[in-house]
Amino acid sequence: MPASTSRAPWRAALLGIGLGLASGLAVVGLLAGLWWLGRRATVPLPTLLPTVPPASTPTAPSAATPTAPPPSATPAPTPSASPTLTPSPTATLPPIPDRGSLVIGTSVEGRPLTVYRFGHGPHQRMVVAGIHGGYEWNTVALAEALLDALRQGRITVPPEVTLFVLPNLNPDGYERQKGVLGRANAHGVDLNRNFDWNWAPDWDRSGCWAYAPITAGPAPFSEPETQALRDFLLRPDVHLEALVSYHSAALGVFPAGWPDAPGPRSTRLAQAIAQVTGYRYPPADGGCQLTGQLVDWVAFTFDTPAVDVELSTHQDLDLPQNLAALRLLLSWELPAATATASATATPTARR
Ligand SMILES: [Zn+2]
Repeated sequence: MPASTSRAPWRAALLGIGLGLASGLAVVGLLAGLWWLGRRATVPLPTLLPTVPPASTPTAPSAATPTAPPPSATPAPTPSASPTLTPSPTATLPPIPDRGSLVIGTSVEGRPLTVYRFGHGPHQRMVVAGIHGGYEWNTVALAEALLDALRQGRITVPPEVTLFVLPNLNPDGYERQKGVLGRANAHGVDLNRNFDWNWAPDWDRSGCWAYAPITAGPAPFSEPETQALRDFLLRPDVHLEALVSYHSAALGVFPAGWPDAPGPRSTRLAQAIAQVTGYRYPPADGGCQLTGQLVDWVAFTFDTPAVDVELSTHQDLDLPQNLAALRLLLSWELPAATATASATATPTARR
């Protein structure tokens, strides 16, 4: 059959297909546009809203302008990367039994982050160690020694108190190296610059720790380790009244808000710990710009006294001093009857 006789019907068919494709594309384009508009209207809010302002500390350091994640054309789709003060409604909250433990999350490399519980009273306190990994490995060793003392009954938790201990917040850094290369997590992030308080993507390194490359992470709570601790502290059954975060070495005891606007309750706790341990207060001030710190986020988010305690060296546990500090933490600002009973069990601190 000659080609010319079939050309007209083919042309008509091609024209029809072309028109069909064009109208189909238009419909697809319209639908895509509507979808994009809907997405714009619903997605970015969690990443752009500032976090909850401090309830009672309006003078917190640069706290009036909590840092939002860097603006982006495609808002982060992962809710875990967004600062939030609302626990996931689908989160299961298994109770932690007295003398039991709970894995609250895993590190970048999959190592468990474990919280231990002692007691079940309403007055909750927490000890965190190892935030700076292998560089400050002796804080992890100290936390393990404190856990042993609790298990063996050398430290008694008053009946009105619950103590949580997170002995190693940065197990990847801890395993990597017992030295400067062990400070950051497996993403190269200094976890104590990754909390959502006065967070900054970078900082002036003068006067600051600068022995190895570290970052603050791409956004507050970008790291699984800080997310895990955040989500634990946001559990509806967790209401800390005091937190101690261990570091090393030698700089002293830092209250939340240091140096610009230390909170009065954190300052009282820092001074009391300095008194029973002999660690210096006021702490050494090297002029480092402090951003995204755990104790600042805890103190100014929850109105909970929080302090950084620096061990005297990078090797020693200072166990007698920190047994005294733990006894003080367990009786800190308890109702009078309980505090008195606990104080009688507190031996004289070594100075
Ligand atoms: Zn440290």
